Amino acid sequence: MSASEANGVPFGQSERRPDAIVVGAGLAGLVSTLELLRSGHTVLLLDRCHAQQIGGLAREAFGGMFMVDSPEQRRSRIPDSERLALEDWLRIADFDSEDVWPRRWAEQYVTRARDDVGGWLRELGVRFFPVVNWAERGNFGDGNSVPRFHLTWGTGKALVSAVWGAIESHPRRSALELRLRSRVTGLLYEDGRVAGCRVIAEREEQVGAAAGESLARPGGVASDESYEVRATKAVVIAAGGIGGNLELIRREWPTSELGTPPRELLMGSHYYADGALHEQVRELGGNVTHLSRMWNYADAVRHPKPQRERHGLKLIPPRSGIMLDPDGVRYGPVPVMPTFDAHAALRRMCEDERKYSWLICNFKIAKRELDVSGSQHNPHLRERRIVPFLLSVLLGKPRLVRHFLDGSPDFVSAGSLRELAGKMNEVTGESAIDVDVLEREIGRYDATIARGKALFNDDQLRRIAQLRNWRGDRLRTSRFQRIVDPSAMPLIAIRLQVMARKSLGGIQTDLGCRVLRTQDGEPIAGLYAIGEAAGFGGGGVHGKRSLEGTFLGGCVFTGRLAAATIADAELPVRIPPRVE
Ligand SMILES: Cc1cc2nc3c(=O)[nH]c(=O)nc-3n(C[C@H](O)[C@H](O)[C@H](O)COP(=O)(O)OP(=O)(O)OC[C@H]3O[C@@H](n4cnc5c(N)ncnc54)[C@H](O)[C@@H]3O)c2cc1C
Repeated sequence: MSASEANGVPFGQSERRPDAIVVGAGLAGLVSTLELLRSGHTVLLLDRCHAQQIGGLAREAFGGMFMVDSPEQRRSRIPDSERLALEDWLRIADFDSEDVWPRRWAEQYVTRARDDVGGWLRELGVRFFPVVNWAERGNFGDGNSVPRFHLTWGTGKALVSAVWGAIESHPRRSALELRLRSRVTGLLYEDGRVAGCRVIAEREEQVGAAAGESLARPGGVASDESYEVRATKAVVIAAGGIGGNLELIRREWPTSELGTPPRELLMGSHYYADGALHEQVRELGGNVTHLSRMWNYADAVRHPKPQRERHGLKLIPPRSGIMLDPDGVRYGPVPVMPTFDAHAALRRMCEDERKYSWLICNFKIAKRELDVSGSQHNPHLRERRIVPFLLSVLLGKPRLVRHFLDGSPDFVSAGSLRELAGKMNEVTGESAIDVDVLEREIGRYDATIARGKALFNDDQLRRIAQLRNWRGDRLRTSRFQRIVDPSAMPLIAIRLQVMARKSLGGIQTDLGCRVLRTQDGEPIAGLYAIGEAAGFGGGGVHGKRSLEGTFLGGCVFTGRLAAATIADAELPVRIPPRVE
């Protein structure tokens, strides 16, 4: 039963007003909604999506969460601490001196993620995989000093189910009205505060998404009805980032660092993450910061079964494959290796105007190491099927490799390097790959391996050894496997491209998630921003780069803090360690 059914009239009709309007039913919006219900508020939750898409990007997410000094880390004897994590975060973030709020958010997140994010989720029944993954360790040990990527048992989908389940079963469920296919187009500013918003009810000729399909293209809109709604206390913007608007991504592209935007750009964000509400906030005088800071990936391919225009997938490419530039020359002298430093890989890729790379491996390597970041291609993890999941870790994922070889135009395989070179050129429509160059580059790497461990002198092999030292990686990393090896065929080439994914910048907020004005830094009364819309806190908690797993956690953290502020019950701010 909804609030409207309980009272006979929906919010917005007659004088009945909710305490809070939450715009966006992604993870951030759901967390805030749950906490607002718990603190006795009435809530109107608006989203453009269909019912089966509630949860936004978190439904598709892998479910990795950055936490510090967690029970899982302790059980694995990983010596982590708030100080160490904050040192890592600040080094990677590389904040500018004016990034005062982002830095404060970073300090709070690092200090409180274990209890206020992980602990809170545990109370909702969420569980994390006991072996903590080690993402973004840095090419030179300058990223995460220790493993911190806690994989949610059940992927991001389990996070959404837990929070949405808690909302649905809440004794005060009737104090929430959920309105889907409702697009917020403007904010209402009245009597010195944000009082509500303008909404278009999107009606459709056909439903764009089949049942169970997430984030599909919207169907055609037949007739739209526009209306206004008002809240007594707060409007919370939880409408995601800007990654779904490729035009905006191109406009904000950090050209000084990455050159001109790629001609081909894949989309890996939410179809509705269009930045429209960022613009509304700006028009009200709110401070929208650092939109050119983005967390885009250099290891994406075209989706074998695209559900939206330019649909891309972020791979976890095999680390035992070798990375080549568009001419087939190996990156060097420091080789590019997936998962060590995503931003450095993107910079190297973008040094060339063509802005793509090649990863060359073989079937044996790919079946052990290839993976995809997301719930869709990890069905055993997503559905919590422990035995098949463990078998896939032990035996690899040959079916996943075949799925990509059969379906993604960026995957080709061949029985020889000559044949492979021809197929690579067919993928790009260029003739940049010369088989002699390919043979030289791969032959040199293979020859180093053939000389034996005692004579290894290649940075990639040193890093493979380091990967195999950590039990979270050992089983998923081949043992110094040659590329051209008759027992490991066929050869595989993967064309990797740039994909727009996460927005690091966003709407600037204080630690209570109140939106701050550009002019005087004071809060705009009645207006809050959370999740990716707020740059996961403060308009850019990550600064210039992320340690990974920090996005879902940032949604939970900001969602909770906004609700606490609205309820005048701020969660106690913890004193972070002093790190210069
Ligand atoms: C495949 C994939 C894997 C990922 N894996 C990880 C991971 O392992 N770890 C991690 O930390 N992060 C991960 N992420 C990132 C993370 O999922 C997102 O950053 C996070 O879920 C964003 O949540 P949000 O609630 O802020 O926004 P969203 O999920 O984007 O939700 C915003 C909602 O607002 C609605 N909306 C937008 N505009 C309007 C409007 N004008 N009116 C009404 N409604 C509107 C949208 O329909 C949507 O439902 C992953 C993302 C993807 C796509």
